[in-house]
Amino acid sequence: MAVTRTALVSGANRGIGFEIVRGLARLGVLAVIGARDTKDGMVAAEKLQSEGLDVPVVQLDVDRDGSAAEAVAEVQRLYGRLDIIVNNAAILIDEPGGFKASLFDLKADTMRRTFETNVIGPVRLIQAAAPVMRAQEYGRIVNISSTAGQLSEMGSGYPAYRMSKAALNALTRIAAAELNGANIKVNSMCPGWVKTDMGGTNAERTPEEGADTAVWLATLPDEGPTGGFFKDRKPIAW
Ligand code: NAP
Repeated sequence: MAVTRTALVSGANRGIGFEIVRGLARLGVLAVIGARDTKDGMVAAEKLQSEGLDVPVVQLDVDRDGSAAEAVAEVQRLYGRLDIIVNNAAILIDEPGGFKASLFDLKADTMRRTFETNVIGPVRLIQAAAPVMRAQEYGRIVNISSTAGQLSEMGSGYPAYRMSKAALNALTRIAAAELNGANIKVNSMCPGWVKTDMGGTNAERTPEEGADTAVWLATLPDEGPTGGFFKDRKPIAW
C-alpha cells in the first residue's frame, strides 16, 4: 500500500512557505503549516481549507531551542510519521538600505539574529527530524536558500543575509553527507526573486512559481539527487 507522505514547512503562514504547503497538499501530501504565531497559521490554514485542502498548524519558532523538537513530536502525534521538512523561515534585516546594505554598516547583532533564524533554525529542525527519518528509512529535506548565498557569484549587498545563505548551503552539504545511504535527500534551492513581504512588489515571480522547485525536491523519488543546489528544477553552481 502506498504511504501517504507528511511534511512540515517552517514559516508557512505567508509567502513562499505558504505556497509550498499548498503545492504539497495539492499532491496529496499531509502538509503541516509551521508558524511561530499559531493565530497567523490558522488564518493561512483557513484559506487552504476553503480550497478543500485540510492543513493543520503547529507552533514552530525556529529561534527557540526546543520548538523544532516539539513541532516534530506534534506532527508524529498527528500522523505517526514525518517524511519531509522544508526549512523556509528566514529573515532579511540588513540595514540601512536592505539589498544595498554595506558590510561596513553591519552590526554584530544583525548578523547574530540573521544566523539564529536562517542557519541555526534549520540546524535545529534537521536535528529534530533526522532520527525520525532514519527510523523510517525515508526523508526529504529542502533548504530554501538563495543565489544571494552563491559563493561563485558572491558580490556586495545585504552581507548578513548573503553569509547566512552560504552557511545554509554548507549545512545542506554536511547533512546530505551524514544522512547519505538512509534514503534521506537533502537539497538547497533558490526560488528566484519572488513577490512576498521579503521580495517586495517589484519582484519577478509569483509565490507559486517560487515554490515549484521546493515542492519538486520535497517529493523526489528514491533515485533523485542529494546534496545539490537547484533553481527551476536544474542544478546551479554553489
Ligand atoms: P517572507 O514573506 O518574509 O516570509 C517569511 C516567513 O518566515 C514568515 O512566515 C515568517 O513568520 C517566517 N519566520 C521568520 N522568522 C521566523 C522564526 N523565527 N520562526 C518561524 N518562522 C519565522 O519571506 P519569503 O519571501 O516567503 O521567503 C521564504 C524563503 O525564501 C526564505 O528562506 C527566503 O530567504 C527565501 N528567498 C526569498 C526570495 C524572495 O525574493 N522572496 C528570494 C530568494 C530566497 P512571521 O509571519 O511570524 O514573521
